[in-house]
Amino acid sequence: MGRVAVVTGGTRGIGGAISKTLKAAGYTVAANYAGNDEAAARFKAETGIPVYKWDVSNYDACATGLAQVEKDLGPIDIVVNNAGITRDGFFHKMTKEQWYEVINTNLNSLFNMTRPAWEGMRTRKFGRVICISSINGQKGQAGQANYSAAKAGEIGFVKALAQEGARAGITVNAICPGYIGTEMVRKIDPAIIEKSILPHIPVGRLGEPEEIARCVLFLASDDAGFITGSTLTANGGQYMA
Ligand code: NDP
Repeated sequence: MGRVAVVTGGTRGIGGAISKTLKAAGYTVAANYAGNDEAAARFKAETGIPVYKWDVSNYDACATGLAQVEKDLGPIDIVVNNAGITRDGFFHKMTKEQWYEVINTNLNSLFNMTRPAWEGMRTRKFGRVICISSINGQKGQAGQANYSAAKAGEIGFVKALAQEGARAGITVNAICPGYIGTEMVRKIDPAIIEKSILPHIPVGRLGEPEEIARCVLFLASDDAGFITGSTLTANGGQYMA
């Protein structure tokens, strides 16, 4: 059995690709999800990857879920903080619910998921924490003050925690995808994608979830042991941070 990786939001979209890619490379993977039981059951049947339902915005649920994963699969070596949501709206119309849901799911989840796994990584002198941030955390995006704040916060978290984990063999990194063809992006009107998004992507297409998954695979590997506190940009040239 390979190293154990937990992927939040790991049953579909970018997270689904990450789970499958890590499994194919020999890792033992646990795929977390929030509520889409049908997608999770289909994913489990197709891949054989065990799925675990808990809400990453809830600290106790994460601690309990991670303890269950350790009981089933062994000590957790890799945490991929991928789960994320959008609740877009211009700020003058944004409700406090839109703000808090996004901050809780996309940013507070980093504490909720990483804190319970951290002690074990420190003790065993190995760990990988990989956070899926966003191009919109790097450059900001109108209509996404909540999302951009959370995603920029992820980058700050990574830079601070990388310093704390370095001597313990734990690397902490962020990946900032640009527009990737998942359900999150399919929610956007196709006319807007065609007219307003694609013209700004120099490679001329949306990214594939597997292209982000391969970045995760590299950052999880022993070969990436000297890379920590970094932000890996994968956006087809749309924004060169
Ligand atoms: P999807 O909407 O396709 O999938 C989101 C996943 O997150 C689902 O598995 C969902 O679970 C899970 N999830 C949502 N809320 C929670 C929660 N509270 N607890 C546990 N799991 C939860 O998203 P993408 O694959 O597109 O995005 C993945 C990550 O990549 C996100 O962090 C996103 O912000 C980021 N990103 C995406 C980009 C894109 O263009 N798609 C661009 C830049 C960054 P369930 O299936 O149960 O609903």
